[in-house]
Order: sequence, then C-alpha cells, then structure tokens
Amino acid sequence: MLPELWPKPFKHFDQVRVFLVTVCAVISLFVFTIASFLSFRNSELLLRRLRDQANNYADLILQMKAWNASYGGVYVEKRRESDTNPYLSRLGKEPEFRDLRGRVFSLRNHAVMVKELSQRFAAREGTRFRPVSLNPIDPENAPDPFEREALLRFEQGAPEAYRLERDDGIPPRFRFIHPLPADASCLECHPTAVGRLIGAISVTIPAATALRETDKNNTLIMVSSLGIVALLIGITYFLTWRLVVGLDTIQHRLKKLASTDELTGLANRRTIMQRLEEESQRARRLGEPLCVTIFDLDHFKGINDTYGHPFGDFTLKRVAETMRGALRSYDILGRIGGEEFILISVETTLDEAIVQADRVRERVGEESISDGSREVRITVSAGVTTVADGDETISTIMRRADAALYQAKQEGRNRVRSG
Ligand code: GH3
Ligand code: MG
Ligand code: MG
Repeated sequence: MLPELWPKPFKHFDQVRVFLVTVCAVISLFVFTIASFLSFRNSELLLRRLRDQANNYADLILQMKAWNASYGGVYVEKRRESDTNPYLSRLGKEPEFRDLRGRVFSLRNHAVMVKELSQRFAAREGTRFRPVSLNPIDPENAPDPFEREALLRFEQGAPEAYRLERDDGIPPRFRFIHPLPADASCLECHPTAVGRLIGAISVTIPAATALRETDKNNTLIMVSSLGIVALLIGITYFLTWRLVVGLDTIQHRLKKLASTDELTGLANRRTIMQRLEEESQRARRLGEPLCVTIFDLDHFKGINDTYGHPFGDFTLKRVAETMRGALRSYDILGRIGGEEFILISVETTLDEAIVQADRVRERVGEESISDGSREVRITVSAGVTTVADGDETISTIMRRADAALYQAKQEGRNRVRSG
C-alpha cells in the first residue's frame, strides 16, 4: 500500500489501487496454486518411483526364493566356519556334507539365501531387504514397530505398506513391505497352510539423493513462481498505471473542452452559470460582497455585416483577450453567447465593480483590432449589479444586470450602468 503522504496522482486512484491489489492477489494465488500442485506432484512422483524400485526388489527376492525352494535349497562350497546355518539341523536337514574329494558343502535354503543377499546389498549400496514375521523362527526376522503394524494390516487384507522416513538423526530412507503368503516350501518350517500370510518382505532404500533432487526441484519451482509473480505483477502494474494516467489526462482534457468556449477560450455559459451559483452562495454565507457585470459589444452586427463573419470571430477573440488582460487573475470571466460576456467579481463592492467595468470598457475602446488588412475599433456597454441577500436565484441577479445593460444601451452605448 502506498503511504497516504503521497499525493493521489489521479482522480480514481483509490478504485485503481483496489483493482491493482485484487489483480495482484489473483495472480499470486493462481501462480502459487500451480506451483504448489507441481511441488506436490513432484513429491508424489518421488514416492511412486521409490515404491516401484522397492517393489522390483521384493519381486526379485521372491523369485530367487522360489528358485531356491524349488530345489529344496542348494549346496555351496564351504569357505568359512560360520557358513553353516545352525537352524537347518533342527529342520532335520543335512546342513553340510563332504564329497569324495574331501570338499565340504554347506546348505543354503531360501531363508539363508535371502539373508546373505541382503547383507551383500546393504554393504554395497545401503539397500536392505529381509523377511519379517510376527512368529519368526530366526529372532533376527522379528519385525520393528513399522513392520509389525504393516503385518497386522496385511492380516486385515492390506496389499502393501510403505513410508518415507525423514526423522532427525538418521539419513532419509524409504520403507516398503510386501506380504508373503505361504507356499508349499514354507510348510516344512512354518506350521501354516498354503496361501495364509506367513510374513512379509521388508525393503529399505536410502532416499537421501532422491530427496535432495526433489527438494532442489521444489525450490526451483517456488523460486520460478516468485519470479513469474513479480514479473506479472510488474507488467500489470505498469500497464494499468499507464492506461489510467492516460485516461485521466484525456478525461481532464475533455472536461476542460466541455467547460470552455471554443472561440475565445473563456469559460462557457454552463460553467460560468455554475460558478455564479457557487460564488453567490458562498458570498451570502460569508457575508462578502459579490458583483456581476454583463458586457455586450456595441453594434457588433455591423462588423459582421461589413467585414464578414470570420473577421467578426477574430474581433470577438481579440476583445476577449483585452477584457481578460484588464482583470485580476481571480476575476471570473466567461462568454455567455454571441457578443455577450459576463464577469463575476468576488469580494468586490458595487462601486469597485463599476470602476472595474469602466476600466474594461476603456481598454476595449482603446484597442484597435486589425488582421493586417482591416482595422476596426469597437466599444462595449456594461450592466453591473451586486448580489443582495434577497436574491433567490441567479436569474434574479442576471435580470438586474441585464436591465442595467439595457439602460447603458439606451443611454447611448459605450458606458457602464448599475442596478
Ligand atoms: P447592440 O449595440 O444593440 O448590441 O447591437 P448589436 O448589433 O451588437 O446587437 P445584435 O444583437 O443585433 O447583434 C448581435 C450580433 O452578433 C448578431 C450576430 O450576427 C453576431 N454574432 C453572434 N454570435 C456570433 C459569433 O459567434 N460570431 C460572429 N462573428 N458573430 C456573432
Ligand atoms: Mg447582444
Ligand atoms: Mg451587441
């Protein structure tokens, strides 16, 4: 908002300000709504991408598990002492055997294979996956709170669960859990039925890099939006301002044209009558003297008849200039039609107004009017009156001034009379 100290640069400034503020608010709302939507969509796409990635991992694990189970586990050559899994003996399986050449082979069933693969992934890129169950055989497969909640929801029929964890202290990570229904291979370890939920595959993917990219994109969207809003507001402000200032100037000019007499540039009849109404009210209110004088050029018709109408116009213009030059800047002079002029003299007594009108009459009479080829002299008669307390309308005042003018004409013209 502009400070009140500033001058209002044009008439409808307040309305224009409301308009501009509204347009700016609408632009901002519109752009920031789009920006928020893009930002939201960006974050949503990141989640979808991470979910698809995790789902692919889970799918891969399930395929590997099925492959392993289809062979009832596979034997690998034992490299370290720790390679043999203690749980396998409990299942009545042979955890290891020695071949004819003396090499020792160790059994990898699907659970062991999944666990070892997970360790390899975790060591390499931070992605982890592991089987989890509400009733785990291996205590390492016990669920954490998020996994437990997901497992309970799977029992209610939920298809999957995921979430982005951005807690303070740990690097951001994406968690995904996929339900694991029991197949025939599960029955040897788990007392359940085929198709019943046995547990889930839990996948954790590091999300710091992806999140950084998304945050960067979101920041970029917001900064661009700010730039666009600033630009649009600037353009709107500039164009509106220019338009309104232009319109105001035109309106000003039209108003001036409408209030001015085209030929002489003096106030026209409508304007001068309005001023007379205002000034007479003001004078009565303040108890100040106010006089009105009507001037009428003498035998003007003769000038038109002798020199033509255009020269008559030229004469009218010159007389108007002479009259204006003989008056004070705050005296109000107008042309009320034909070759008649009216003068409103504020704070002026009747005697002063008579002197003033006589000065105008003298100046007009002294002036020789020439367009280069013709030269005339003209006289003017004037009727002066003062605004009295009893004057009800301006017509009353005008009638009195007209009567005084008539008297001046009757007594021989080129004179001032009052009434
Ligand atoms: P009087 O001394 O009694 O006032 O005589 P007059 O000839 O001035 O009065 P009259 O009212 O008979 O004539 C006024 C003339 O003014 C008539 C008209 O042709 C002329 N007139 C009115 N308006 C204009 C105008 O705009 N331009 C010109 N050139 N003449 C105008
Ligand atoms: Mg006349
Ligand atoms: Mg006349």
